[in-house]
Amino acid sequence: TVCGRSKQQQLRRASSVIGRETGSASCGPPVNTTCRGLVCTEHGDDSGKKEVYDVIISGGGMVGSTMACSLGLDPNLVDKKILLLEAGNKKVMDKVPDVYGTRVSSISPGSATLLSIGAWEHITKMRYKPYKKMQVWDACSDALITFDKENLQDEMAYIVENDVVVAALTKQLDSLSDNVQVKYRSKVVKYTWPMPHQAADSIPWVQVTLASGETLQTKLLIGADGPNSMVRQKLGIPTVKWNYDQSAVVAVLHLSEPTENNVAWQRFLPTGPIAMLPLSDTESSLVWSTSHRLAEELLELDEESFVDAINSAFWSNENQSELIETAGSLFRSTLSTLMPVAGIGPKTRVMFPLGIGHASEYVRHRVALIGDAAHRVHPLAGQGANLGFGDVACLTQLLSQAAFNGKDLGAMQHLLEYETERQRHNLPMMAAIDLMKRLYSTNAAPVVLLRTFGLQATNMLPTLKEQIMAFASK
Ligand SMILES: Cc1cc2nc3c(=O)[nH]c(=O)nc-3n(C[C@H](O)[C@H](O)[C@H](O)COP(=O)(O)OP(=O)(O)OC[C@H]3O[C@@H](n4cnc5c(N)ncnc54)[C@H](O)[C@@H]3O)c2cc1C
Repeated sequence: TVCGRSKQQQLRRASSVIGRETGSASCGPPVNTTCRGLVCTEHGDDSGKKEVYDVIISGGGMVGSTMACSLGLDPNLVDKKILLLEAGNKKVMDKVPDVYGTRVSSISPGSATLLSIGAWEHITKMRYKPYKKMQVWDACSDALITFDKENLQDEMAYIVENDVVVAALTKQLDSLSDNVQVKYRSKVVKYTWPMPHQAADSIPWVQVTLASGETLQTKLLIGADGPNSMVRQKLGIPTVKWNYDQSAVVAVLHLSEPTENNVAWQRFLPTGPIAMLPLSDTESSLVWSTSHRLAEELLELDEESFVDAINSAFWSNENQSELIETAGSLFRSTLSTLMPVAGIGPKTRVMFPLGIGHASEYVRHRVALIGDAAHRVHPLAGQGANLGFGDVACLTQLLSQAAFNGKDLGAMQHLLEYETERQRHNLPMMAAIDLMKRLYSTNAAPVVLLRTFGLQATNMLPTLKEQIMAFASK
């Protein structure tokens, strides 16, 4: 029922929707509705009696769960009925397991602030590792860039296991049960969209059908259902996406000796970047993006050969030519605090095919996309989840304002503001990450020289580095 649209069409539609809304303050289209407590039950359409929520969030990963917490805690939204739907099981963690999870995220200080909706406190009580510095260098030249805060007391970011983030959010959601309901093991199998201009015989809200057969309705649907978002696909939102020629192999690594371990290391090899992110004094997390073939081979290796392959990927000079070595050595620093790897954790190594994707529209009538449902990036900059947390902060603020002003939460006016604001932030970040991926996927001498001088020049310009860090930490 909803077709693709240009920016001009968006704006035209927005202004007509806005025009319609100025007359009806808070409830959207008129329907025959009776409210029991916070949940309304409709009688006026052919869909029988169905619960109407103010907001349904489809997908309870890191981003969707954060959205639910953030809305649930907003003072202007306390009387709104919010529902989070997650296909998987409830993730509780009464005690942090001894073994680290293989999936981790580098969480920026800006995201940590957003998660201070109670979840960050739970995370700090569970397990997390701050780091103060990031060393990025080029295998073809050893050109190196160091990111750190001027004041080394300050943390650059935090490495947190994804399971810990979700478990902390789940704990926080349990305490918000007055206005946020969560249904686990509730896979959405169908969406029915309302028409922007309400026809007399159609439903006014988004209708959500679960695998159990239960049908729910919402004034605003937030799609947080990941990179293969069903919400995005069913709306037919045009999406620019392609698969990279790389997969990421992740694992937990044991270091050869205990160390302060407060540096995140990343080396760009011609086959892709390899990163070691601190977890504790003795353990780090590996994210090794490489060709699909090598990734498959790495999964098959015995532990000793796998560890040798990692150490060689960090230390070997085999990709350097003499000319480039001379150019790079002008600026070379020692990597003395990088600790060799001695073993791997008991959890299996896992491989993820990598890709990029961007929805050309984040919003439609009564629908908004957040997180990987709207944008997916290469993990080389550790930004995927952080971009999603930024979406949450922006959308919460606009919905809070809309509720304060008595507006319909599903109206295009503030949804379009959300889209504009987030695309303005996300697109340059995505373009920069994609450019870095391409620039470093070659060992052709002119490109290596260019990036060697580029990296070293950036390294010597504190203001530029600060700007890069400030942008990435939002
Ligand atoms: C190797 C690797 C390393 C990374 N490192 C970092 C990093 O350091 N920092 C960082 O910021 N990002 C990182 N990322 C990116 C980050 O993991 C993602 O951006 C983030 O997990 C996206 O979260 P999400 O909640 O949007 O989507 P997802 O995590 O995909 O969650 C979607 C949820 O929706 C649910 N769902 C799907 N369909 C339905 C349905 N029909 N009904 C109900 N529920 C449904 C799923 O069960 C799932 O729980 C990395 C990614 C990779 C692959």
